[in-house]
Amino acid sequence: MSTAQPRVGFVSLGCPKALVDSEQILTQLRAEGYKTSKTYDGADLVIVNTCGFIDAAVQESLDAIGEALAENGKVIVTGCLGAKKDAAGDDVVAKVHPKVLAVTGPHASQEVMRHVHLHLPKPHDPFVDLAFARIADHGVKLTPKHYAYLKISEGCNHRCSFCIIPSMRGDLVSRPIGEVVREAESLLKSGVKELLVISQDTSAYGVDLRYRTDFVAGRPVRTRMTELVRELATLASGHEAWVRLHYVYPYPSVDEVLPLMAEGKVLPYLDVPFQHAHPDVLRRMKRPASGEKNLDRIQAWRAMCPDLVIRSTFIAGFPGETEAEFRYLLDFLEEARLDRVGCFAYSPVDGATANALGGALPVEVRDERRARFMAVQEAISARRVRRRVGTLQRVLIDEVGPDGAIGRSYADAPEIDGNVIVAPPSSASGRLAWRQKVGVGAFTTVRVTAAAGHDLRGELA
Ligand code: SF4
Repeated sequence: MSTAQPRVGFVSLGCPKALVDSEQILTQLRAEGYKTSKTYDGADLVIVNTCGFIDAAVQESLDAIGEALAENGKVIVTGCLGAKKDAAGDDVVAKVHPKVLAVTGPHASQEVMRHVHLHLPKPHDPFVDLAFARIADHGVKLTPKHYAYLKISEGCNHRCSFCIIPSMRGDLVSRPIGEVVREAESLLKSGVKELLVISQDTSAYGVDLRYRTDFVAGRPVRTRMTELVRELATLASGHEAWVRLHYVYPYPSVDEVLPLMAEGKVLPYLDVPFQHAHPDVLRRMKRPASGEKNLDRIQAWRAMCPDLVIRSTFIAGFPGETEAEFRYLLDFLEEARLDRVGCFAYSPVDGATANALGGALPVEVRDERRARFMAVQEAISARRVRRRVGTLQRVLIDEVGPDGAIGRSYADAPEIDGNVIVAPPSSASGRLAWRQKVGVGAFTTVRVTAAAGHDLRGELA
């Protein structure tokens, strides 16, 4: 029977939000009895989920489509690049790769499935339908078994001048809170130990639904960030799991979740994409919460939760950024003492309104500012990491090898932050006991002995 089952190859590119889209499509494929293939020649058709944000991502996606066409020939394209048009108003993908079978935008699993059915008819096997209906409870996950992204909304109501995501993913559409909590519960029951809440703007969760009341286990609960975090915290504590919040904007309402962090119910970790500090640059960027006093807010958060770790991203060399505005940003960094920070030199994105702003800076100036930014921030991050030497940290193990284990503390989100490297003891008997305590997806307590760049080193406590 298995040889008769149609096989689909899948290439997934882009951010965690795109990864969740891939998981939804793969879940649907499996639920309908399609098999997946790890090779192009073993597949009857290939789906490429693309990213269309910055130029490098566009090129990577176009190359991946080209490779799939050359190696397999039957290709369906989905994702952000699928929704992108060039300056002449033509579809970017169709123009470069006219032989693709179909192109959809992001978050379009039903549309993708329609194209799959058309080009690779669905297998009709009632046994398969039944068997896979169970798998579809919590779906196919592309992350390791012990952590999962939990997407709470799609799209964005803001119009940041450097960003084209709203034109690709549309306005904010929040998932009702009951549905999100049910998915979280199913993930936790399947063994997930860390839920990573993602969206384009987590603080705006429920705005589009006017914070409508939904039902969680029969109780009325509003579809709103604080209520969601509270529900997830309660669920996670029953499964000894972590909840981590990403893409939170510094609105006053965020203050409401800080007590939950201080009480240890949610990880004291906030991923807040500030992008800049100078009010005039933030206005030109049309950033959400640009009128907020961010330094005051950070201080207030730390007063409520002294262990809070803040991650952020910034853009250096935005059009019109003066040297004085850039220095203001460096002063902000010194005062804010953020823990984890990424910085991009500004690069224009096709279709972004910032392209019409004027005052574009030469590439060398943008690169030089980014380098100065990183030099300042790296010293700050190193100091922040060193503060944890000598402490005991709860660590979630991601990998175990012959030379030790690699895990993460509450301060480290997967893929983007540092690691905690746990050395095995030198004696053979010690190693045996060590192996029993240190497994992938297990929590363990580590005494931190040293800092190395963004990472920590330690031994089992
Ligand atoms: S908040 Fe701004 S940067 Fe983020 S997705 Fe929305 S428009 Fe883009």
